[in-house]
Amino acid sequence: MPLVVDLQRFQGEGTGGLGTSVDAHDAFLRSLSLRDLKKVSSLTPLAPIVQRHLHDRVESMWKAFHLPSSPSLGMLKDTGSIVSGSAALDLILPGLRTPRDLNLYCPEGAASAVLSYLFSHKFILQGPPLVWNSMKEGRSNNCFNINNGVKSLHRLKHLEESALITVVESVSLSPILPILFFHTTFTMNYCDDKEITCLYPNLTACSVGLNNRSEDYDRLHKTEATQKWEQLGIELVWNCDSKHRHYSENTTALPFAATGKCQRQIRTLDDAITLRMGFTEEKRISSDLKITWSLGYTDWMTNKVEYVDTHVSITTPTTGTKYSTLRHHRRALDWKTHRENDIESDGETSVARTSFP
Ligand SMILES: [Zn+2]
Repeated sequence: MPLVVDLQRFQGEGTGGLGTSVDAHDAFLRSLSLRDLKKVSSLTPLAPIVQRHLHDRVESMWKAFHLPSSPSLGMLKDTGSIVSGSAALDLILPGLRTPRDLNLYCPEGAASAVLSYLFSHKFILQGPPLVWNSMKEGRSNNCFNINNGVKSLHRLKHLEESALITVVESVSLSPILPILFFHTTFTMNYCDDKEITCLYPNLTACSVGLNNRSEDYDRLHKTEATQKWEQLGIELVWNCDSKHRHYSENTTALPFAATGKCQRQIRTLDDAITLRMGFTEEKRISSDLKITWSLGYTDWMTNKVEYVDTHVSITTPTTGTKYSTLRHHRRALDWKTHRENDIESDGETSVARTSFP
């Protein structure tokens, strides 16, 4: 039986009310993670109160960067863009870290529309954009060497205020692709024009992230990217092998797959693990783009090491493209070759220095 909350008592209206002010309710809701808000909103009839609160969270985010909320959400809708990075994390886990800049991710080809909106709101470019043209196409529609899914990067600052924005153009029609190549699941969150989405809610709400650990991890990601979160007390798990067993005598099923706590699970955007909450009355229009992904991980075996790189598959009704860092996203090495390889590839390269984030 659904739990029913007396709205009058919650709001403190009339006789018998709790007598608490609207400010007190806001303070209470402001402290909750997106996962907890989802639970609170399931208590009839608190859903509209939670939705209004979420809308306020989004409005405050734009305000912090000196942008008007409704037109900026309109820009996200018109360009198919999303907000990610620490600003999106602040919508999901408020108060952990004040966002230093706003990261906007747009589909391939939409960067100029996003930039012209920002130019019309007193933002200017800090320098020339960084553009990559390193993507290669292999057989079976496999795109590799994709620079973490980023095609171009534009840094902007406000003319009068201290506000920074980074616009990241995806190499694909989905702005979500670069997010799936982030170094940890902890930051795999985003906000579009209608909803806030957390891709690993069960871990994120507990301040835990799984590393997106591909063979090229040290080459692709800055070391500081990991340290920043660890200093805030976030547990970043290198390999989910340290948390649970993957092999059992009786079954080949992954034991922790259903909880979204396993690097080896194949995920889709609309699976039961993804947590979405709407902050407007408008309903989400289902997209033609279907996205499937799995994180990178390393499987340490007695006679060899197997590397499985991050790979993402994006399909439309007529096309299907796979994205990965390397041409072959699965590679097994015997221990001797692995050690030699490790010594050879030790150290940072230019990709890590320019990668984003
Ligand atoms: Zn696992």
